[in-house]
Amino acid sequence: MPEKLLPFTKEQIEKIIKKYPTPFHIYDEKAIRENARAFKKSFTWNNGFKEFFAVKAAPNPYLMKILHTEGFGADCSSLAELLMAEKTGITGEEIMFSSNDTPAEDFLLAKRLQAIINLDDISHIDYLEKSAGLPSLICFRYNPGPLKKGNVIIGHPEEAKYGFTREQLFEGYRICRDKDIKRFGIHTMVASNELDAQYFVETAEILFELIVQISHALNIRFEFINIGGGIGIPYRPEQARIDLTAMNRGIKEKYEKIIAANGLAPIKLFTECGRYITGPYGYLVSRVLHIKDTYKQFAGLDACMANLMRPALYGAYHHITVVGKEKQSHDFMYDVTGSLCENNDKFAIDRMLPKLEPGNIVVIHDAGAHGYAMGFNYNGKLRSAELLLREDGSVTLIRRAETVEDYFATLNFQGLSTFKV
Ligand SMILES: *Cc1c(COP(=O)(O)O)cnc(C)c1O
Repeated sequence: MPEKLLPFTKEQIEKIIKKYPTPFHIYDEKAIRENARAFKKSFTWNNGFKEFFAVKAAPNPYLMKILHTEGFGADCSSLAELLMAEKTGITGEEIMFSSNDTPAEDFLLAKRLQAIINLDDISHIDYLEKSAGLPSLICFRYNPGPLKKGNVIIGHPEEAKYGFTREQLFEGYRICRDKDIKRFGIHTMVASNELDAQYFVETAEILFELIVQISHALNIRFEFINIGGGIGIPYRPEQARIDLTAMNRGIKEKYEKIIAANGLAPIKLFTECGRYITGPYGYLVSRVLHIKDTYKQFAGLDACMANLMRPALYGAYHHITVVGKEKQSHDFMYDVTGSLCENNDKFAIDRMLPKLEPGNIVVIHDAGAHGYAMGFNYNGKLRSAELLLREDGSVTLIRRAETVEDYFATLNFQGLSTFKV
């Protein structure tokens, strides 16, 4: 089986662990930058292309700042994410605010930051107007319904809670045009972790055709189309990366045939990917605490699903490397577990690995997106630290590990002594 490589040696990681005890997430800055540049380059055919990094995938200001220096904006969906973008120095139309079921205070902040506001529902036009006032640029999220097949993580578009129907789009843009809004964008996102380039070509085609129809029907001009995030990564070592060249060739062809041929160019293409940008370049580093031999062999780690819940949540595959044993034959079958009182707290089930012993360093791959971010405190588990492996090999602590004091901070122990029971 092909092996996935690590950006550090055994000696390097042992040295890092001496200073920062396991478990922690570590991100590879060099690889993130190289990937960001290659991603951007594949879209150079489109003048004005911009990627808005989906903050929810890895909400850390250091990662956002690195990506900002590579020309990326931020895709935010909540008040805290908007504030994090602002604190990182990302404001104005470098923020895409793609939220749903949105509270008024979030709209107020998005409006104050002059972010691009991407509405999820037709009723939000009125809600936004009353809570924050209408902006000069508006975007709507389209849900193509039965026109498009979804995939496992996101489900069928008709079942999804997101977006406007086709009829609502026409009505929504008409309402905004009549309220004197002159700048328009359109958005859709119907896939998650999709590796087929053609899927995104079809998504772009659907939006291009819709733009032609809406532009002509309402006599408005679109500035951008946002094809969302959802570009997948090869979690399994035998999987291939998405072919960005083929994807761009396909989208460009449709752009010329539909947008340019109808006199609607130029229109800027936007993406809001998270997983593709940081996913493969983050690693969850952990140690084996216990080996347990009952009806099966269990390798219990010092990390648990609170550090990475994708395997438990979706049955997702995450590749595992045992540091220093890469070349040993993988003859032993383990369930690799965490310590939660939940039997689905397993990073892998029936995984063939080298023989494990307590103290071994275990690295879980592709934890750089929707990894730390999905963490939680169930069972009193504390969130781990986040480290950044710099291009010169040094390490920066970009988020400290939580302490018990952090966990207790919202509890009112002072009131307990006078609490009469
Ligand atoms: C989650 C999400 C993204 C990012 O998805 P990835 O799979 O990480 O690329 C982008 N846009 C919206 C609206 C999302 O909900």
